[in-house]
Amino acid sequence: MKLLREKCFIDGAWVGSDDTIAVLDPYDQSVLGTVPALSANQASKAIAAAREASASWGATTAATRASILRKMHGWVLENLEPLAQLVTAESGKPIKESRGEVRYSASFLSWFAGEAERAYGRIVPASRAGRQIQVVMQPVGPCAVITPWNFPSAMIARKVAPAIAAGCTVVCKPAEITPYSGLVWGVIAEECGLPRGVLNIVTGDPVSIGRTLTGSPIIRKVTFTGSTKVGKLLMADSAATMKRVSFELGGNAPFIVCNDASVDAAVEHAMAAKFRNAGQTCVAANRFFIHEDCHDEFVTKMVAATSKLTVGSGHEEATDVGPLINKQGAAKVRRLLSAAVDAGAEVVGGIIPENGATLIGPVVATGVTNEMPLAREEIFGPVVAIQKFADVDDVIQKANDTNYGLAAYACTHNQERIAKFSAELEYGMVGFNTGLMSTAEAPFGGLKESGLGREGGQEGIGEYLSAKYVCLQ
Ligand code: NAP
Repeated sequence: MKLLREKCFIDGAWVGSDDTIAVLDPYDQSVLGTVPALSANQASKAIAAAREASASWGATTAATRASILRKMHGWVLENLEPLAQLVTAESGKPIKESRGEVRYSASFLSWFAGEAERAYGRIVPASRAGRQIQVVMQPVGPCAVITPWNFPSAMIARKVAPAIAAGCTVVCKPAEITPYSGLVWGVIAEECGLPRGVLNIVTGDPVSIGRTLTGSPIIRKVTFTGSTKVGKLLMADSAATMKRVSFELGGNAPFIVCNDASVDAAVEHAMAAKFRNAGQTCVAANRFFIHEDCHDEFVTKMVAATSKLTVGSGHEEATDVGPLINKQGAAKVRRLLSAAVDAGAEVVGGIIPENGATLIGPVVATGVTNEMPLAREEIFGPVVAIQKFADVDDVIQKANDTNYGLAAYACTHNQERIAKFSAELEYGMVGFNTGLMSTAEAPFGGLKESGLGREGGQEGIGEYLSAKYVCLQ
């Protein structure tokens, strides 16, 4: 593959190591290649490079940083196809979705190019004569970026673009099962003239590299996307040096269909909210709450729509649902479904996946309750888990009855309900009459145990800036 790099990128150079990690294609488990399993000492060199580059990069003009980000945006779009091939090869994602992911990555580069130019400070009218109060925005400093496998390109773009825009330097550790979409950012840095040391990409044992990053006093911020469990560990480890943190963690999204909604439109939005990346997204609809008046029609139409999905290799243009990332992910889906059926749920579309299979067809289950593990844990698979509701207050209470608070969806055109859901759903993002809402210009992020901080929008660059108060008398 044209852009596959088997070395880490540190201080502008490609670096290998004696120990390596094999990277597999999730579809057929074939070996795509290897990446270095860097030692903690080698990871420390990346931190030193980020420190070395920090002062000069932080002192560049916003125009310089914006211009490099725009170059990166152009380069990513020009290389969309090989970049998408990398995403599909290592994550199993259908190629048409991988192209969408790479376009989404590019959109953060152009959005944050603009935000770099708009990262204003301000002058505050002082209450004391002869005094000027300046608020100056400064880069936070070297940042650790740790990302997951489910959007191996975009989760890096959402962090690296605002960091670079703000004048921060970066040490990035992509997920070890999808490292190539991360290492390719070294190529992007080289091709687009990012000075050496500004962006460093390391691979290896997550615990050792994670501790090296969180333990280093040089690193001033940790930004992480991944599971809530690991997010809590990183937050605790970051406390010793009081780092800034932003975390994009797990979700348990409710998808509510009210009785005034068009069922056909609701099914279309539900398909979009559920089946992207075979259901392996943090914002995937995890719990479907369907009003009793339209429940049976929704179930019938959902079963019909899911039966049309093509399941197979992500490399095929026709594929809608690729393999799950690995056998552990598939075993979790099986466990959650089996427990739900034992507790009274019914599989009305598809079948409970066989033991060991990673290629899982869509499953539709009814009679699910909010107490079942299927409704309490992230399914991270192509399962539509349906509950029935009768009352708006009751569905809001059920939707909020989770430790997560990332994305919620509702299908209704009733203005009172829209106002009520907007106000009362305890989620960082609420989408009405859509199954896809994430976009570079809006702040993405969660409440409760779904995380801290926002990515994208006007808020995104603020996560990488510190406000300094300068008092002039
Ligand atoms: P994960 O297991 O938490 O891993 C995420 C990253 O953390 C990987 O790079 C992983 O490295 C690393 N890591 C694991 N253990 C670590 C440790 N002890 N110290 C330091 N780093 C460590 O999550 P995942 O399974 O890759 O991703 C799925 C999760 O991400 C889901 O919960 C999903 O909801 C969440 N997610 C959230 C968002 C959002 O925006 N809110 C977006 C996408 C995904 P290795 O891969 O090398 O183990």
